[in-house]
Amino acid sequence: MTDTLPVVVIGAGIVGTATARALQREGRAVVLVDSDEPGRATSFGNAGFIAIDHVLPLARPDVLKRVPTMLLDRASPLTVHPPSIPWLLPWMARFALAAINPREVTAGIDAFGALMAEANIAWQAEIQASGLGELFRSRGALYVYESESAFQGGAAERRLQTAKGTEFEIVDGARARALAPGLTERVVRGVYYPRGMHTVNPHRVVALLAERFAAEGGTIRRGRVRGFTRDGRRVTTVRIGDGEIAASAVVLAAGRASGDLARELGFNAPLVAERGYHVMLEPDGVRFDLPVCPSERGFFITPMEEGLRLAGTVELAAPHKAPDWRRAELLVRGFRQVFPGIGGGERSRWIGERPSLPDFRPAIGRAPRLENVWCGYGHQHVGLTLATATGRLIARGMAGESMPTALAACDPGRFG
Ligand SMILES: Cc1cc2nc3c(=O)[nH]c(=O)nc-3n(C[C@H](O)[C@H](O)[C@H](O)COP(=O)(O)OP(=O)(O)OC[C@H]3O[C@@H](n4cnc5c(N)ncnc54)[C@H](O)[C@@H]3O)c2cc1C
Repeated sequence: MTDTLPVVVIGAGIVGTATARALQREGRAVVLVDSDEPGRATSFGNAGFIAIDHVLPLARPDVLKRVPTMLLDRASPLTVHPPSIPWLLPWMARFALAAINPREVTAGIDAFGALMAEANIAWQAEIQASGLGELFRSRGALYVYESESAFQGGAAERRLQTAKGTEFEIVDGARARALAPGLTERVVRGVYYPRGMHTVNPHRVVALLAERFAAEGGTIRRGRVRGFTRDGRRVTTVRIGDGEIAASAVVLAAGRASGDLARELGFNAPLVAERGYHVMLEPDGVRFDLPVCPSERGFFITPMEEGLRLAGTVELAAPHKAPDWRRAELLVRGFRQVFPGIGGGERSRWIGERPSLPDFRPAIGRAPRLENVWCGYGHQHVGLTLATATGRLIARGMAGESMPTALAACDPGRFG
């Protein structure tokens, strides 16, 4: 009886929508629920980069070492929203513990290796299955450095990438300028990742996935999930607005808000909002077609169909705090220094909340102590990259397959 009921996926961001598609392909009835239209939250405004070469999670000693100097400098790529500090302290303590524990760091690297290997295949398959080809470009990506010491600072990550078989080319300033015409003479080095892929419209990717989902028989329901009814270790209904949906299984993919739903279900998902900003500029004089990351400044410059997107940097904050638009202005200032000859007036600004767990590994798998609740949240800086892989892993898990061993490090039960 219960198997004829749908799987309810909560959250129509990129993770929930890709998961709904993967479950649908397994032949399941699926209801995708969101309080807003698909893809209007964090998945709306990211930098669009499918970062499959990103094999080092951020919880690690070298990042921790740089944190104190960056934190209180409002102009650095990493800062905190000062009134949020008391709320953030437990999360920061957990981050520090994960970053200094070599076992945790190694577990994170292994998990990312496994996830990124899956991500590449999963995106290629989804692009085919959902007809998303016009929204993606395979042009690679270019990281640039304005000092030799910053370039040397990335040596450990490059060694690891080499060990994992990542293809990249170290280039000098002149070659970097040839790859991205208009780059400042201050750029002394670059690293070009030829396998990189980006989307020219992250919001349209989610919207099209949702459209395909509905066209192939999936149901999209608009409404805020307010709670659950349980029968022992099973969730039987999801309460939404004034009504409820009877469910055979539930997937929590509500981004940062997954923490509230997890609490409701009796387990912990200590997610914070790692806020990031974007600014859209008119495409005035742009002569490159790949994402460029000025590494020391911590953001991406991505050519998109509606203009040039400057997106990134980190501002740790408690939920629902007012944006600090000076962080967006920082992006524009940085861009003007990196590409001094490129014009382009500002079109729009945006703030988004990366859903981040303190060990910087996502939660993918079955929820602790519950038989039919699955988790897909905590994707922090790489949610676009990992969404389709997460969807496939959850769909396979629900079908009874065990997770790859390395993904034990992403067990949703690790926070109790
Ligand atoms: C500036 C910036 C740049 C980034 N660049 C990149 C990049 O280049 N590459 C990359 O891979 N990643 C990038 N990311 C990260 C990526 O955008 C996120 O990891 C990803 O969007 C998270 O997706 P999600 O589906 O988990 O969450 P969301 O997109 O936030 O979706 C969650 C959904 O759940 C819904 N919801 C929440 N609570 C409820 C409820 N109770 N009931 C019903 N619905 C609910 C929300 O309305 C929302 O639609 C970037 C992020 C930022 C901020």
